[in-house]
Amino acid sequence: MSVHELPHLQAGLDQLKKDGVFRKLPILEGPDTAEIVLDGQENVVNLSSNNYLGFANDERLKQAAIEAIQKYGVGAGAVRTIIGNMDLHEKLEAKLAEFKREERAFVFQSGFNCNAGTIQAITAKGDLILSDALNHASIIDGTRLSRADKKIFQHSDMEDLERVLKENRENYANCLIITDGVFSMDGDIAKLPEIVELAEKYNCMTYVDDAHGSGVLGENGRGTVDHFGLHGRVDFVIGTLSKAIGVIGGYVACNETAYQWLSHRARPILFSTMLTPADTAAALRAVEILMETDEYQKKLWDNAKYFKEKLGKLGFNTGHSETPITPVIIGKESDAMEFSRELRKRGVYTSAIVFPTVPMGTGRVRCMVTAAHTQEQLDRAVEAFRQVGTEMGLI
Ligand SMILES: *Cc1c(COP(=O)(O)O)cnc(C)c1O
Repeated sequence: MSVHELPHLQAGLDQLKKDGVFRKLPILEGPDTAEIVLDGQENVVNLSSNNYLGFANDERLKQAAIEAIQKYGVGAGAVRTIIGNMDLHEKLEAKLAEFKREERAFVFQSGFNCNAGTIQAITAKGDLILSDALNHASIIDGTRLSRADKKIFQHSDMEDLERVLKENRENYANCLIITDGVFSMDGDIAKLPEIVELAEKYNCMTYVDDAHGSGVLGENGRGTVDHFGLHGRVDFVIGTLSKAIGVIGGYVACNETAYQWLSHRARPILFSTMLTPADTAAALRAVEILMETDEYQKKLWDNAKYFKEKLGKLGFNTGHSETPITPVIIGKESDAMEFSRELRKRGVYTSAIVFPTVPMGTGRVRCMVTAAHTQEQLDRAVEAFRQVGTEMGLI
């Protein structure tokens, strides 16, 4: 035990408790599926997972992982640049490049690492990074690690982006515009066609983090770039292997030059051990399945539409989502937490998302509908929303 009592941390925890936002980590007992055992509670409808297609517990992926363990063992053994680069990793990269319709794909241990490592590697002092106000934390951190200057533009506001470009572009060598493809808290899609046009007009590189778009949007889930038909016009297309793909890992689809540069300069690749064989093989199997069929995307979108319509009819504010992400805006931080707790008592698990993850006063429960949910499970969830919403006077 530490000899220090860490009073500054304790004061922070006390404040969280006072604000009603202190939480204990929930414990999932068993696989991440549409209906789960959570903290000993059985038959809980799971509306909190990014496992969009239900792949996290898919038999084919599990089998691929088992076979990879038999053949390659459980660990990569070292960083990629030393001996941790297996043929299996190269196979996954080749398949991802084919799937994403880009020249190459470079795999990292997570989506977070991918952003932290890539942004830092491709920008330098004297460059400028332009970042959407609602970009993911890993983009913010990657930008902090870079020695480039940073400017934020208002969320999806193309006039503001152009204003910042006009005022600053000529003062910098290279300029990188970064946006999420799908914004994870509201479910809206980036205005990628306009961003790409501005990037071409002002000679900027483009970077799309498609963690929530890959596997969800575009042909067979090829992502936001495919959805808008922008192949070849976005320089860095980030995806994660931990959401729709159901496993763990991240990647950037890019051209050969970027690929080579990252393999020399991306710090998570130089200084952290590569993805395990099991994860790599399972992710590879998932991408193969996506390329064979679009039945999972179809089911996902059907389920999301069904659920949103039902909640809308009850009078809930589901924001302006354009994707299966379904926020239900409650308002006050503590109300959102209470709403989530009450749903939980009725066997429905949603995560409460509050400040500072979203702006103050827009506390919400975020519902992640997946392809794996049955209509009966969604109906049960809607009924719980109706009960809690009525009790709390929200509908
Ligand atoms: C989840 C997420 C990440 C991180 O991906 P992991 O694979 O979980 O590390 C990065 N960017 C965005 C936009 C995300 O939603």
